[in-house]
Amino acid sequence: MEWELVMGLEVHVELATKTKIFCSCTTEFGGAPNTHCCPVCTGMPGTLPVLNKKVLEYAVKAGLALNCDITRYNKFDRKNYFYPDLPKAYQISQLYLPFAQNGAVEITTRSGKTKTIRIHEIHMEEDAGKLIHSAYGDATFPDYNRCGVPLIEIVSEPDFRSAEEVVAYLAKLKSTFEYLGISDCKMQEGSMRADVNLSVRPKGSDEFGTRTEMKNINSFKAIERVIAYESARQIEAIEKGEKVVQETRRWDDNKGKTFAMRSKENAQDYRYFPEPDIPPISISDETIKDYTDSMPEFSEAKVIRYGEQFGIAKADAEIIAGSKYLAKLFEETVAICNNPKEVRYWIMTQIMYFMNERGVLPENIKLDPKKFAQFIEIVAADRINKQTGKQVFEEMFFADADFDVEKYIKDNGLEQVDDSDAIREAVAAVFAANPATVEQYKNGQTKVVGFFVGQVMKQMSGKAKPDTVNKIVGEELAKI
Ligand code: ADP
Ligand code: MG
Ligand code: ZN
Repeated sequence: MEWELVMGLEVHVELATKTKIFCSCTTEFGGAPNTHCCPVCTGMPGTLPVLNKKVLEYAVKAGLALNCDITRYNKFDRKNYFYPDLPKAYQISQLYLPFAQNGAVEITTRSGKTKTIRIHEIHMEEDAGKLIHSAYGDATFPDYNRCGVPLIEIVSEPDFRSAEEVVAYLAKLKSTFEYLGISDCKMQEGSMRADVNLSVRPKGSDEFGTRTEMKNINSFKAIERVIAYESARQIEAIEKGEKVVQETRRWDDNKGKTFAMRSKENAQDYRYFPEPDIPPISISDETIKDYTDSMPEFSEAKVIRYGEQFGIAKADAEIIAGSKYLAKLFEETVAICNNPKEVRYWIMTQIMYFMNERGVLPENIKLDPKKFAQFIEIVAADRINKQTGKQVFEEMFFADADFDVEKYIKDNGLEQVDDSDAIREAVAAVFAANPATVEQYKNGQTKVVGFFVGQVMKQMSGKAKPDTVNKIVGEELAKI
């Protein structure tokens, strides 16, 4: 039987406000345990929360960017549960009137398919602390620094049918929030975390199967592995005649497996009730208009503009515009050197290689657009060839701010040689050193031309201009 995957995502995003959602403690990541706390965020009796205005602003902007209806009159609710990372024993969240509903996000998958994912709702809430389990024995240390860090939770409809779609969606959320400047969405630091709800059903069926939920998956790679593992587990169970149990499962990244954690809780289990300590929020037309008018240029608009203005192919433009940081580097470099094709080339080859093979993150790229532009001008003027260019680019990319491109090329003697006499001499030397290969050529084996070109390039330490080498090798072979 052929099976279809059905998934819905609940994504938590930490908002990049300076202070917490209901107090003025810093939201900075890390810090010595329990140093970013106060009586409010640790839930001391008698304290009262006050909503941070900036949290509301960032949240509403996120809702607008994801095409949601903004709930003009919204409220907070109290979600009660006991867990040692939650000193108040309740989390202030939104259940009955979340601030945003009925949104939609366009995604484009790696294979180029576009699709709309519907957003059920987005709500604001506070984060909980962290529990550090001792490596030396039976002890757990609570760290409340993260208590009260503002979050939005984006709940999608069960619209995903493949891991590829899930990854495209998360990348889209990340890009959108980066452009808005409301979160850095660093999955590795937990500022964006996804709960994956997954069920399977026979292909063609229009009923949903029983789902399981895998919480707090924090990398794209892990997401793909969770989906592959859990869908296979469910299919195997159903094919054996077993039932999938609706439950929360824990993903163990080292073992590459999910484990039953607890049966699925529902809203009743949390004894939700309206939060009595925070007055309802009312959002005006002017506020909505202000935020709508101040939206930045997002990736879709950039993709179209890069095509029209710079002739960049859609697939490339999607990758560049998909990250605020790559887009910024691209646009600022092009503004200086006015050579979009060449800038695109180095981003799509070398920078992609550094990102995919060496784990470079776009937000950590330090390359100065002025230097990048200077490099592009050197390559475009043919002063170094592409092969040498790769070496120079790599050096420049990972270097400190004081790296000097011109000086590096000069000090290492990398400038391209276009001296016909020198190249002709090298060709003669290569022929003299390889009489047997010359003989092969005479006997009609023209494929040895490539060998001669390679040897001449090597003889000239890779600095000769490839076009000229080709030409002269051809001329000299014609003479023998
Ligand atoms: P809860 O609040 O109990 O977690 P929701 O109905 O809000 O449940 O759904 C949570 C997430 O699970 C949503 O993203 C939703 O799209 C998804 N979901 C719901 N039913 C299914 C299903 N049968 N298969 C996969 N995902 C589902
Ligand atoms: Mg849930
Ligand atoms: Zn505090």
